[in-house]
Amino acid sequence: MTVPRCRRFFLTLSGLAAWAVLCLCTTLLQAQPVRASGLQPVTLQLHWTHEFEFAGFYVAKEKGFYAERGLDVTIIPGGPGIVPVQEVLRGNAQYGIGAAEVLLARLRGAPLVMLAAVFQHSASCILTRADSGIYTPQDLVGRVFEMGRLESDAETYAMLHNEGIDISQLTHVDSTFNPQLLLDGKVDAISAYSFSQPFFLRERGIPYRLIRPIQYGIDFYGNSIFSSENEVRRHPERTEAFIEASMKGWAYAFDHVDEAVDIILNKYSDHPFAHSREHLLFEAEESRKLVMPHLVDLGHMNPGRWKHMADTLVQLGLADADYTLKGFLHDPDLSSSLLAHWGVRAGIGILAGAVGLCLVLLRFNRRLTAEIASRRKAEERTLRSEQRLSLALWAGNLGWWDWDLKSDHVSLDRTAHTMLGGSDTPLQTALESMAGNRSLTGAMPFVHTLRNMQQNDTRTFEEEMQLDTGGKKRWVLCRGQMINSSGRAAGVLMDISKLKSYQQELEQMTMTDYLTGLFNRRHFFRQLETHLEQYKRRQYNLCVALLDLDHFKRINDTYGHMAGDSVIREFALLLKESLRPYDVVARFGGEEFIILLLDSGREEALGILDRLLKKVSGHTFDAEGHHLRVTFSGGIAEADELPASELTPKRIVAAADQRLYLAKTAGRNTIRIR
Ligand code: GH3
Ligand code: MG
Ligand code: MG
Repeated sequence: MTVPRCRRFFLTLSGLAAWAVLCLCTTLLQAQPVRASGLQPVTLQLHWTHEFEFAGFYVAKEKGFYAERGLDVTIIPGGPGIVPVQEVLRGNAQYGIGAAEVLLARLRGAPLVMLAAVFQHSASCILTRADSGIYTPQDLVGRVFEMGRLESDAETYAMLHNEGIDISQLTHVDSTFNPQLLLDGKVDAISAYSFSQPFFLRERGIPYRLIRPIQYGIDFYGNSIFSSENEVRRHPERTEAFIEASMKGWAYAFDHVDEAVDIILNKYSDHPFAHSREHLLFEAEESRKLVMPHLVDLGHMNPGRWKHMADTLVQLGLADADYTLKGFLHDPDLSSSLLAHWGVRAGIGILAGAVGLCLVLLRFNRRLTAEIASRRKAEERTLRSEQRLSLALWAGNLGWWDWDLKSDHVSLDRTAHTMLGGSDTPLQTALESMAGNRSLTGAMPFVHTLRNMQQNDTRTFEEEMQLDTGGKKRWVLCRGQMINSSGRAAGVLMDISKLKSYQQELEQMTMTDYLTGLFNRRHFFRQLETHLEQYKRRQYNLCVALLDLDHFKRINDTYGHMAGDSVIREFALLLKESLRPYDVVARFGGEEFIILLLDSGREEALGILDRLLKKVSGHTFDAEGHHLRVTFSGGIAEADELPASELTPKRIVAAADQRLYLAKTAGRNTIRIR
């Protein structure tokens, strides 16, 4: 960031004396006015009127946290027409509150620096009445939707864009910043903040629904503190003091919500915008879900999340793709340890003389070099391990998920998100809301799998899930592991649809006969064994019938083997048609067939097969163009006939075979049951 520049500067020894003098002068010139109280005055520009969403700042001021750090902070409310980015750039305020619009200004060249993200997730959402029939962004098509301009409502636009919706497909009404049109039924949905407008519907007992961009892969930071490069560079200590005191204020506000609400009601109620106690308490609870004060370090910022926001702005055509975030995220270490005392160092330098200063600077430079080298090494290590991970995931065609059990939030990478039926973007969402997300059609089994893991308290698990993602069935293997006792689980998703279909094909092949498509002999015996076991527990009666085509050899000899095959196939079809769906029929071998007739005695089985006998003898077979008549003979045996000790698959089949033999000797085209 600013390090290499400043390093080069320090090394220019020829300009040393001039620099030192200049330093002293600018230090004196820029010395901030100090109030009689000894506190430095600074201004914080809010982006909206006084609400709980700024509670931490009011608390920091009223409880004296700013004063403890030497600051006298003036808090200026915002409202329509007040743009904190401009106020900070013009120097009217040192600090401002904002998020995406600050990033956008930075991408367009404004020298702004993001200091701390208070709201880990943005409150931006779509608010609609529960009876509107609007469940997903797609449902907005053809409806009246009140929302802001592209630049101020980027998340909503990005969500619509991601879901393939063009603004021209809905009737767009400009934001009025209050829910009146929604209450009057004049618009179907409005773009809102989850901690604010829903209260008005709740207050009137109107059920409502929120559609959040985070459910559709758009996860922006919400209210964050920002400043100008100028302020951060010239007043690093003051900047740190402001951030730390503000965070202390936020921690206190969430631990003492009632007191914070009292402070707002007593000192920050700007009529006519003032909110009631109930409304402020609602805002507090909703804000807590987004700030997550006990889960995330207050103010924490992840560069990857800011990059995701920047990429989304680029996708919307708001910024150029070749952007850089260099210098945008505040780095307290750099500014405080290296630059904080530059004015003081200049003074010492002048007093100690050029030689002393040279030594100090050389040592300083060496430390700086070492610090940069070690930081680079750490960055390289992190980068390498991230590259290894993403390579492994890519090579294994794996999607990755991560679940924080305490907040119940799940993160999915792009691959995992698509496997569950979502879009090709990462997703961060509450596990509970995933199951109800109608555009994430495959989410339900995933949610069940994770819940099972939680209930059974398993450390590692593996579950094959069958998903129906938008009419397309797929099999996904979910593997996971508890990462640590603090309640995080993580794992991978693997699309095993192909493997499953091979497996099913193979299973099918091992149990069917290639010529007729009936079950084969091996599968028949397995089924017979299972049913005999159940029969022994006296659940139902059963019979086995063995059939053999009469004088089949003659057909082969007269018309050829292929004609014989056709007859076998056609006979199999007639057989299948004549039986009940729960009977098991198989090709026993050659021109012999075997049937397991369930829930039937010999007489009933005889009735069924006699009908078949008549059907077959009256049927003309088409054997490769030759029209022929065919008959068969059969023998039936019943389980009841054998004592339990002798009732095995082999014995009952042998009994049927014996009767088949009797049918043959009796002249064929007949069935014997004794
Ligand atoms: P029977 O009435 O006594 O059963 O007389 P049959 O001619 O059918 O006698 P047998 O059962 O001994 O002979 C069966 C013949 O079936 C022998 C063989 O040529 C023929 N065969 C066996 N498997 C196949 C096959 O897969 N395709 C064809 N086309 N013929 C087969
Ligand atoms: Mg035979
Ligand atoms: Mg035969």
